[in-house]
Amino acid sequence: MAIDFKQRIASVKDFPNEGITFRDITPILQDGELYRAATHELAEYAKSRNADVIVGPEARGFIVGCPVATELGVGFVPARKPHKLPREVERASYDLEYGSNVLEMHKDAIKPGQRVVICDDLMATAGTLHATKELVERLGGEVVGAAFYIELTNLKGRSMFPDTDIFSLVKYD
Ligand code: 5GP
Repeated sequence: MAIDFKQRIASVKDFPNEGITFRDITPILQDGELYRAATHELAEYAKSRNADVIVGPEARGFIVGCPVATELGVGFVPARKPHKLPREVERASYDLEYGSNVLEMHKDAIKPGQRVVICDDLMATAGTLHATKELVERLGGEVVGAAFYIELTNLKGRSMFPDTDIFSLVKYD
């Protein structure tokens, strides 16, 4: 029987700001079987895209992407908030559903031509995906897919990327 991931996501009204309903994935992470099942779904997707490497944006992209990379036996590359990475970086800024931010990746993190799947917990406006994809491409990688636990479809993030394959476990209108 298909696992009902949606049933295990907590919806928290007015967090972090009034009018926002926050989708909380921690109940999935707390349950070993469920976390493994969610990881497996994303890993099967990344495998189907022939991913050479997984990239995850800070911070929940690490939680989601690292186990996918280890399941597949491919590398993991973090896209981090500013001034966290110790060596030379590429930098891109992005707007969030509530606020804006900057991401950085080490300049030597991706080998030219590597096939990259970007993993994160949730796609809202897709600003984070946009910045992460831009960084990967500037480093010479090819984004062959993006995988999320959750997609907020009413924000139409997917339409920003007509040429990018996007997978999500759970969708909310
Ligand atoms: P976007 O850039 O697509 O607008 O926002 C997605 C990013 O914001 C993701 O990195 C995600 O972790 C975070 N985010 C925004 N809204 C939520 C939410 O409701 N729940 C969770 N878990 N993360 C969110």
